[in-house]
Amino acid sequence: MNNTVLIDENLCTGCGKCVTMCPKRILYLDPETKKCKVTDETQCDRLGGCVWTCPMDAMQIR
Ligand code: SF4
Ligand code: SF4
Repeated sequence: MNNTVLIDENLCTGCGKCVTMCPKRILYLDPETKKCKVTDETQCDRLGGCVWTCPMDAMQIR
């Protein structure tokens, strides 16, 4: 399975909501850029919780 978690860093404000809600714990905030990043995309459940949670509409699951 080829998961892709797409994060638009131009939209991300670093609020951390997606990090908190991700049931797979594969999202984190980059300490330097304060933008959301993904660790292991293969662990993604593809249910799109982060997509629905993000107030900036910065995330997509493909
Ligand atoms: S779709 Fe779900 S498992 Fe995948 S990154 Fe978003 S919240 Fe995490
Ligand atoms: S919820 Fe959206 S704006 Fe907030 S950290 Fe995640 S991707 Fe960035």
